[in-house]
Amino acid sequence: MIVTVVDHPLVSARLTLLRRADTPPTLFGPALGELGGMLVYEALRDLPGTTVEVTTPLSAASGVSIDDPPLLVPVLRAGLGMLEPARRLLPGAAVGFVGVRRNEETFQPEPYFNTVPDDLEGRDVLVLEPMLATGGSLAYVCGRMAGAGAGQITAVCALAAPEGVAALEAAAPGVRLFVAAVDGGLNERAYIVPGLGDAGDRQFGEL
Ligand code: URA
Repeated sequence: MIVTVVDHPLVSARLTLLRRADTPPTLFGPALGELGGMLVYEALRDLPGTTVEVTTPLSAASGVSIDDPPLLVPVLRAGLGMLEPARRLLPGAAVGFVGVRRNEETFQPEPYFNTVPDDLEGRDVLVLEPMLATGGSLAYVCGRMAGAGAGQITAVCALAAPEGVAALEAAAPGVRLFVAAVDGGLNERAYIVPGLGDAGDRQFGEL
């Protein structure tokens, strides 16, 4: 599996804001969006474009048109925080939603929602999931996309644990992973340490 840790001071600064326990939801959401946008930008570096001819006010010029953007798949609910920046970068991209919650006793993924078609016909997919912890949810989602015949599957995560990276690689070796940092490991409740806490609760509040 190709793992890219995006090394950039602006990425590190947003991640630091996300890590701080005293960052309120009003700042956490925007910072996750900005971080997500930078990670998606990196993940799209090799995006194929079509050459087009345009006319500037002065002359003809060659340009690029993105005609076949990847399908965006935010993993509910924390992945919603990365969706809008991805859509701003890829305005024509379709969006499929997958809901997976982890069972807090077994830590196994439990799917509860899906709008992704059963046949992806070779379409590339960008999966948005801020936290790659045990890897169960992301492995499930990437496996489901591969089973539906997706082309290149790229996972974009804010943070990962080594256990999650290994689990994803074992389950879906063809996936590309873009992440801002890989932390030390998981605690006994399968939270990433030092991590940033619960990415869903920190965006949307603890119910
Ligand atoms: N999900 C989160 O939101 N945070 C973690 O640390 C692990 C899983």
